[in-house]
Amino acid sequence: MEFPRVAAVAASPDCRIADLWSLSEGSSSWSIPISHSIRGGAEVERVSLLNLLNNVSFSSLAAGPSRNVWELTQNGGFSSHSYYSELVKGSNLADQEFPFKIVWCPVIPPKVCSFIWTVYYRKILTQDVLKKKGWSFPNRCALCGCFEESIDHLFISCPFSREVWFMMKAFVSINIPTQDISSVIKLWPRDLSQSASSWCSRVFLHAFCWHIWLERNRRIFKDLSASPRMVSFLIARCVSDWLCAGNKADRSATDLWLQLVRNRLLPRPGPFLLQQ
Ligand SMILES: [Zn+2]
Repeated sequence: MEFPRVAAVAASPDCRIADLWSLSEGSSSWSIPISHSIRGGAEVERVSLLNLLNNVSFSSLAAGPSRNVWELTQNGGFSSHSYYSELVKGSNLADQEFPFKIVWCPVIPPKVCSFIWTVYYRKILTQDVLKKKGWSFPNRCALCGCFEESIDHLFISCPFSREVWFMMKAFVSINIPTQDISSVIKLWPRDLSQSASSWCSRVFLHAFCWHIWLERNRRIFKDLSASPRMVSFLIARCVSDWLCAGNKADRSATDLWLQLVRNRLLPRPGPFLLQQ
């Protein structure tokens, strides 16, 4: 809300709040010194500004220059957490239980976390979504070539993806999911302890979705393809890379994963990519 006419005639436009507010015998009052008499629109503005200020009071005002204070934190400094808490207070946003501890995993690159975030909200541009936006083309899954592409088909029910899920069972104790992908993310094991197996399973979901999406795009945009076994290999290597790049607390997770990969993953399976 702005009061340009009052500001134009203010006697001291740069004065402190303490100069305009006073406390006398328990009651506070505001005054707005102006440089010359006003009427009409400027007077209306001045009255509405005073009405607004009369709702603002202080127990005392410290000496010194005025400064901005963020009321939602104790120290008066801004924090995005306090702002978010205030925004969702009283709304149903807080009840949706967004699985932020699953989605925003600290050892995973932010661009992948952001991707999983859009997957959770079902906002990635799969072919069915593009058609709803007005694009015209035959919808065919790039991975299996047999069914229409949707987000749940891509990550859950596509025969190609299910083969990858099945292969990855050798590395993490997972049940091959049957729900929609948002539920899978939401219900992903929430064991957020620092144990090695916990870190492996947390990182795995991101790696799986990320590489299925990369493979899908590789087939559509580069006319190249990799086998389910190769994608499994890439996922396992990706998990290793992320865990190795993590902090020292993840060392045991990294060792566990590398041991699994060494014991169970066969040497790199054939040519990296095949021309379609
Ligand atoms: Zn498919």
